[in-house]
This record gives sequence, structure tokens and C-alpha cells, in this order.
Amino acid sequence: MTKPILIIGGGLAGLYAATKLHQRNIAFLLVEAKAQLGGRIYSEGSLSASNTGFDLGPTWIFPHQPKIQSLAKSLNLTLYEQYNQGDVLYQAPNQTAQQIPGAGDMQLFRLKHGMTTLINKLYKQLPAKSVLLNHSVTELTKTHKGWHLKINNNGQTVHYNAKTVITALPPRMITQHLTPELWASQRLINRLNTTPTWMAGQAKFVATFDHAFWRERNLSGQCFSRVGPMVEIHDASADNNKHAALFGFIGIPYSTRSKVTKTQLVEACISQLTYFYGEAAKSPTQCFIKDWAEDEFVANNDDKTQPSQHPEFNCSELTPELNELNIHLVGSEFANKEAGYLEGALNAVDDALSAI
Ligand SMILES: Cc1cc2nc3c(=O)[nH]c(=O)nc-3n(C[C@H](O)[C@H](O)[C@H](O)COP(=O)(O)OP(=O)(O)OC[C@H]3O[C@@H](n4cnc5c(N)ncnc54)[C@H](O)[C@@H]3O)c2cc1C
Repeated sequence: MTKPILIIGGGLAGLYAATKLHQRNIAFLLVEAKAQLGGRIYSEGSLSASNTGFDLGPTWIFPHQPKIQSLAKSLNLTLYEQYNQGDVLYQAPNQTAQQIPGAGDMQLFRLKHGMTTLINKLYKQLPAKSVLLNHSVTELTKTHKGWHLKINNNGQTVHYNAKTVITALPPRMITQHLTPELWASQRLINRLNTTPTWMAGQAKFVATFDHAFWRERNLSGQCFSRVGPMVEIHDASADNNKHAALFGFIGIPYSTRSKVTKTQLVEACISQLTYFYGEAAKSPTQCFIKDWAEDEFVANNDDKTQPSQHPEFNCSELTPELNELNIHLVGSEFANKEAGYLEGALNAVDDALSAI
């Protein structure tokens, strides 16, 4: 089958690129490896009837990021402020936790019903046949007319040809899955390999509760710990006060946390919450954990073993090669500004599409 433009990856960058092409009446096909769209935007549990839940990937939109805010607005999505009223808790090694008055007033925004609502809305605006789930690209080769793709669809290999390819995935996922040794220079491959995927080595924990008991003690839910297992904890409740929740980033490196079971990790997180917030934290209604380092479509071995770093990928000296190949790299890590963030995914797409 031949398509003029093939988008690989159905995270925010891929769906935003698809939306932009659709608005310009340009035909495309988007292929996504997983059974669901969103990539690093991922949630579990249930916040509404529309398949949204508690964020295990990104949570925050920052005030200085205009594009993601206006995209949310254009899709009629509601932003609300991260709950940060009350005191913050801090625990240093070998010390008891300290309560620090009102220290957490940084302004951050969240999306009502969670981040997946953004993905659902973008998807709904696209022609259904132009998005294929469970289609994992396993080989990309250059032909005299453009590109040839081998795609694994539930164990069957399907073949596509495309004039132009838009890769909407992190640099290291290109080297992991898209066989750049068949089409890229060694210089490009090295640059792809050395650009870390933002947050790929992280694991995130969410616990939901009947009510936000920490707020009754004038605690914001924000907590910083140098003891762990979570290094940072925040209020993750929905904006309507009906769904109380806390989330935390697990600070134990993947090499260590992979040696314990998920149940042990969840137990350790609950006992840490109990230490900070008292007996009420002992009985969450639900717990969710997502270890991004284990996700074969997000992290490679380097992301598992290296510390999390902000990506920096300056395309300028590679532009002649990329133009010659007729390939556009639009994952968030390729952005000139806000690389690694949601805003970066939109920036990377806008930069690339101006050239199509
Ligand atoms: C725990 C965590 C917390 C975060 N917090 C924030 C935050 O608060 N604010 C913020 O702005 N950003 C945050 N981020 C970063 C944010 O999630 C990313 O910037 C953004 O989601 C990247 O979108 P993307 O489309 O570029 O890439 P991705 O979301 O990684 O999408 C890539 C897509 O490509 C697919 N894919 C991969 N390989 C193939 C293949 N071979 N064939 C087909 N498809 C393939 C993947 O399955 C995926 O769907 C966080 C990330 C994580 C993990």
C-alpha cells in the first residue's frame, strides 16, 4: 500500500502532526505500535465516562508554555491549578520529616479529567481510517521513490510505501526500532543515540483515597524526600474534589527497583505515605504504578542506566541529510524550545511541518 505521508508514533507529537495535516487536507496514515494512543501520556483508573483517569505520565502544563495552553483551549479543555495550598513536608537522610509553611506556591496547571482527554480529543477529530493501532514499525528502508516500511500487526508483517516519513518518537526509539543503519549516516545515528528521552527512566506511583485527608491537616500533599522510595509527592486529586489522590516519583534507580516486585514497591510507597500523612494513607482505594523504563516503546538500555537528563538535539547541521532523505523528526526531544515537554512536542511538529 502506498501513502503520501506516513506518521510513525501516536503520542502527542504524532497526533498533533496528523491534526495539522488534516487541517491542510493532506492525506496521511499514522501507525502506532501500542493498542492505545498517547505514548507517554497515559492514565489508569477512572475519572469520567470518557476513558480518562489518573496520570502516570505527564501531569503539568507550565505557565510559560503558550502552545499547549492554546491547544487545550481550542479543544475546549479546561485547565485548573495544581493544588498547593498548605504546608510542604521535607525529609533529609536520617532525620524526621519537617513541615515547612507554605513553601510550595509554584503555579502549575493540570487538565480537567487528566492528560488523556487531550489525546482523545485530538484523535476524535481525525478520519478513523487514518490511524492504525497495534502497528509497530520494525524496518524502515529508503527506496528510489521514498520509503518502505515493514510493520508488525499482531504477529503479521504488513508493508507500506510512503513518499515522506514523519517519525513522532524519541531519538533513541528511532535507533531501537527504525533500523537507521539502513538509511542514516553514522553521525545521525550517534546523535540519535546520545539524546536521552525525557523521563524515560522514571517510575510513577498514584494512590487514590476516599477523601483528601492531608488537606484537613493544612498539608498541600507536596513532599520532598531524600529517604524514598518516592523523592517527590504531590496532590493528584481531580479538580472536583470527588477523586482524591496523591502521586509520587520513585527515586530508586531502575537497576535497584527492578529487583523487587511491583507489590513490594507499592507497599513501600504506601508505608512512606503513611509515615508522612498518617494512618488514613494506609488504605488507598486504588494504587497504580507505571515503570517507564520497562516500556519497550519509550526507554532503551541507556535510559534505564543513565540519569534522567534534559534532551538537546540541534538539527541544523543535519538538515541537508534529513532533507535529502525526506524524513521529518518530530518527537518532543527534537524541539528547539521546551524539548522533552508537551510544549516541545508541539514546537517540534510546527517547525517540521512548515517545511512540508
Ligand atoms: C513520568 C513522566 C512525567 C512527565 N511529566 C511531564 C509534565 O508534567 N509536563 C510535560 O510537559 N511533560 C512531561 N513529560 C514528558 C511528556 O510526556 C512528553 O514530552 C510527551 O508526551 C512526548 O510526546 P511525543 O509524542 O513526542 O513522544 P511519545 O509520547 O513517547 O510518543 C511516541 C509514540 O511512538 C510510539 N512508537 C514507538 N516506537 C514505535 C514503532 N516502532 N512503531 C510505531 N509506533 C512506535 C510509542 O508507542 C508512542 O505512542 C513526562 C513524561 C513522563 C514519562
